[in-house]
Amino acid sequence: MQLKGNWNYPTAIRFGAGRASELPAMCAELGIKRPLLVTDPGLAKLPMIPRLLDYLHSAGLVASVFSDLRPNPVGRDVDAGVAAYHGGSHDGVIAVGGGSALDVGKAIALMVGQNRPLWDFEDVGDNWTRVNVAGVAPTIAVPTTAGTGSEVGRASLIIDENGHRKVIIFHPSMLPKLVLADPELTCGLPRHLTAATGIDAFVHNLEAFCSPYYHPIAQGVALEGMRLVHDWLEAACDNGNNVEARSHMLAASIMGATAFQKGLGGVHALAHPIGAHFDTHHGLANAILLPYVLVKNRPAIEERIEAAARYIGLADASFDGFLNWILQLRAKLGIAHSLAEIGISREHAAMIGHDAKQDPSDGGNPLPLSADDYAAIFLAACEGNVHG
Ligand SMILES: [Zn+2]
Repeated sequence: MQLKGNWNYPTAIRFGAGRASELPAMCAELGIKRPLLVTDPGLAKLPMIPRLLDYLHSAGLVASVFSDLRPNPVGRDVDAGVAAYHGGSHDGVIAVGGGSALDVGKAIALMVGQNRPLWDFEDVGDNWTRVNVAGVAPTIAVPTTAGTGSEVGRASLIIDENGHRKVIIFHPSMLPKLVLADPELTCGLPRHLTAATGIDAFVHNLEAFCSPYYHPIAQGVALEGMRLVHDWLEAACDNGNNVEARSHMLAASIMGATAFQKGLGGVHALAHPIGAHFDTHHGLANAILLPYVLVKNRPAIEERIEAAARYIGLADASFDGFLNWILQLRAKLGIAHSLAEIGISREHAAMIGHDAKQDPSDGGNPLPLSADDYAAIFLAACEGNVHG
């Protein structure tokens, strides 16, 4: 089977290995002549970025690079990008990277035509209606990891450095107009990041699948997304150049972010404040937290998890079988079992519990959890005590 296609759900996606050379044609479709290529400082040093710039320059496009952003991006990263956009008279954004670069690229595209500060567009109530839609620049998203799925999302996570808070900036027009999903661009990702981002994709599908809201479209997407991770994540980690595995993981990542319109849950509610306070890699935080949250949610999700276990083909299709499979997968991929192993200690439990309860992902958790419940899960995750 050829793993290639032009998909229009939830946005226009050009999927398939080797399609990066179509980037200039995609700019032409959107009327972009002077793109600002937004990426992170690590990627900016890799051959991939000069190669993409070569494609653009050969087609007569005037492109420059903005890469001054943090792994957990902050407000002033977006401000600096907006200044670079105006300084170079750009007319569109190409965001290339993992979640950080994609989120910053989308936020820059939003902010180049607004009169209000970024925080006025926090995803609260009807704040999004304040956006001047005509001012939003066209964006092409080019994912280089298979995890966040930010390329098909309508929001960016940006840290308000004054409040130490991860803020969701949301507007429907932040959904990139075009996505270039070329699995070959994810082949250079090191094993530990392939593992952490891959589990993030899995958690998006899983939390969407378990969230209590009615959204059967997302439910179906989430189930198949989990199966793809089950079948292909280990292969992608074992051989980074396995394009078939990389293709299925990139698809699973897109599916996870598509599905989580239905809601996320406690894993993300905890991972967001942990990332904001300790600068922890988002995928790694999720990967460590997942079993502890699953056990807490067990009374509400046992039947659903059994259905998922049957669908993905586990020999032991029980809740415990599913949990054991996740614990074994994490161990095989070299992911830490406890937060203590990555230097996060118990004394922060009350603060993280409080912040997790405030996080928007809390609303999608299948069981109502209090700040104390979150603090208890955090403690269990610090100690590596899955069964409580
Ligand atoms: Zn995530």
